[in-house]
Amino acid sequence: MRVKMTVKFDCAVIGMGVSGVLLAKELATQGFKVVLFHDDKPINMSLAESLPATVNPLLERLGLMKYLQHEIHFPCSGTFSSWGAAQLQHPRLESTMQGHGWKVDKHGLVRQLAYDLPDSVVKLHKVISIERQPSHWLLGSKSNGQVIEVCARFVVDASGRQGYLPRALNISRHCFDKLMAFVVNVPRISGEKLSHPVLVEAQQNHWGLVSKMNQNQNMLAIFSNQASPDFELYKSFENWHEISQDSLYFKQFIPQEYSTKVRMVNASSHICSQLTGDNWLMVGDAAMSFDPLSSHGMTTSMYMAEKACHAIMQSFTGNRAGLADYSEQMTSIYNTYLNELVQRYNAEQRWQGSPFWQSKQQLKMTNECMLVS
Ligand SMILES: Cc1cc2nc3c(=O)[nH]c(=O)nc-3n(C[C@H](O)[C@H](O)[C@H](O)COP(=O)(O)OP(=O)(O)OC[C@H]3O[C@@H](n4cnc5c(N)ncnc54)[C@H](O)[C@@H]3O)c2cc1C
Repeated sequence: MRVKMTVKFDCAVIGMGVSGVLLAKELATQGFKVVLFHDDKPINMSLAESLPATVNPLLERLGLMKYLQHEIHFPCSGTFSSWGAAQLQHPRLESTMQGHGWKVDKHGLVRQLAYDLPDSVVKLHKVISIERQPSHWLLGSKSNGQVIEVCARFVVDASGRQGYLPRALNISRHCFDKLMAFVVNVPRISGEKLSHPVLVEAQQNHWGLVSKMNQNQNMLAIFSNQASPDFELYKSFENWHEISQDSLYFKQFIPQEYSTKVRMVNASSHICSQLTGDNWLMVGDAAMSFDPLSSHGMTTSMYMAEKACHAIMQSFTGNRAGLADYSEQMTSIYNTYLNELVQRYNAEQRWQGSPFWQSKQQLKMTNECMLVS
């Protein structure tokens, strides 16, 4: 059965990750009527995201500092890395001089923000259909077996890497690699020799990340692509000791006699060929995604939410320049990121014959068309 909600919303936000919930909050605070669609599928894995110290002014502006004081998040003094040399390098001086960054429980932060959303924000389940009309959008969602249809003047795609609007509007993406993350959440080993909450280590066919989630657990991740001869081995945790035997640090965090499922997560870099259009825009990973080596993903998602709010406000006053400025600014940020990323991978020259490192040391752009599903 189809139920039409006669309420007309100013803005529909698809996706309740960090970018979506923040943008919904900002728009509602400005007095707009917002409907926020969220997917309720259970979350069973933490990616133990960290934020650099440079994000602190943005966190202050967006009023997020108070949420980070909660015990589920904790301060983090930067990333220790073995990259380009075996020796462990300490966090760069400039990052420590700016104070500390953060280890964020991302799903916890989204829950905190969702709890504090203004009452005017209407929450509905996952979007299952979208239709563009001359003056508005019609969006469908399901609740208790009924299809609910709502009407909105403006649509924001905040649905993460899979992206909803690119598929619906057939917008292609520029893809720069096919990096995959193989992720496990494991118990911390008592008496860990290295107490660093975030550690990155380059190895011959991949790089590894150790990130402390809380007092009891670490997130371990191996980042690689099909160029690696070990690609299939990453998928079973029982192989991780063998794959990591040449590492100096990463292997120390792999618990003995522990079994767990490895989750494969897309960690590639892409940007959509169009970020805004007539009464729509994209924020966060839906618009552009980052290699986790950069720790840019969450920070840029938050920044995009802030800038998207201004662009949408201008668009409602009939000024479309805001949307064009938003696209231009985000594309420029992405270009800077791509240049830095290539430099970062080129700083590792120990395994010049490794197909994995060769594949990461140059940029290749492919276009992926998003077909309407
Ligand atoms: C292994 C790994 C490690 C990372 N580490 C870091 C790090 O250390 N620091 C950092 O800053 N970033 C990191 N990132 C990136 C960071 O997690 C993302 O950039 C950020 O979470 C993106 O937020 P988002 O709101 O755009 O998307 P998401 O968090 O993906 O949220 C999108 C939401 O939309 C929902 N959705 C999807 N389709 C629909 C639909 N049809 N209807 C309604 N809802 C829908 C999804 O279920 C999801 O809840 C990492 C990423 C990976 C893969």
